[in-house]
Amino acid sequence: YAAKAAGKNRVQVFSPALVEVSGATLLEAELREAVDRGQFVVHYQPIVDATDGRCLAVEALVRWAHPVRGLLAPAEFLDVAEHTGIGNAIGEQVLRAACAEAAGWPGIALHVNVSPLQLAHPHFVTVVREVLEEHQLGPKQLIIEITESTVLDAPAVQGTLDVLAEIGVGIAVDDFGTGYSALTTLRTLPVDVVKIDKSFVAGAATEDADQAVIEAIAQMADRLGLQTVAEGVEDVDQQDFVRRAGITAVQGRLHFPPVPADEFTAWLTRESLVA
Ligand code: C2E
Ligand code: MG
Ligand code: MG
Ligand code: MG
Repeated sequence: YAAKAAGKNRVQVFSPALVEVSGATLLEAELREAVDRGQFVVHYQPIVDATDGRCLAVEALVRWAHPVRGLLAPAEFLDVAEHTGIGNAIGEQVLRAACAEAAGWPGIALHVNVSPLQLAHPHFVTVVREVLEEHQLGPKQLIIEITESTVLDAPAVQGTLDVLAEIGVGIAVDDFGTGYSALTTLRTLPVDVVKIDKSFVAGAATEDADQAVIEAIAQMADRLGLQTVAEGVEDVDQQDFVRRAGITAVQGRLHFPPVPADEFTAWLTRESLVA
């Protein structure tokens, strides 16, 4: 922890730019240690049928149980992890942990976010096969979420996506509508699910422009035979709009926030008793 103390001292001495650099180096060292010590935990958020509220799927979202700073969101460490090559190790831990948990949730699809580097790694498909086998999960129970920017590297990832599709693993395009590649990639890649970015959903009840985007995506997805998820649904008005637009599933705090596995299991049990 000498480096940490030194890092703190530096804050007063160096310019902001340098502080950022040394901060990133410190974070990198801590991240490597976190991988070795298994400090990453996975939280789960339900994805429910837009019409009847039934739980269709669950998204795995990584958090870092930092020994000093508490539970950290991905925005606080994933970029540095990706740029330093640690992202692959974290991603593999998330995939393994989430598939182990999902074995106890039959009939519910598991969505796992995967970074471009993970997808480009030659062993990725091997790990997926191994993990599915290990936990006796059907390939259709797993859905890999990629962002549109990942899809921009299509030549690099196309092969991996094709193999995943062949195995039967589902593919979702995350944060849809925020990238540039949207329309062509849906035609050329084996995509099953489109997740409408929460920035559009935020305005679903009030903003004409957001409503237009949501309706256009819903229509296009329908024509292409793709499932749709609206993410970041926080209130009933937003949900009413996306449902009327024809979106098939919703995810957001209106239904349930991301929670640890045991809490999701408890929620699932309660929901199925009610349904
Ligand atoms: P994402 O995949 O688009 O995940 C949805 C984000 O929306 C999550 O943020 C979730 O906590 C948040 N969210 C849930 N309900 C609501 C709501 O009602 N309103 C709003 N405004 N937001 C809501 P989180 O957990 O901070 O994750 C941020 C991003 O980090 C994810 O965005 C995903 O791109 C990335 N990420 C998370 N876990 C992993 C992982 O295991 N691997 C990789 N490569 N990326 C991950
Ligand atoms: Mg996602
Ligand atoms: Mg498919
Ligand atoms: Mg998203």
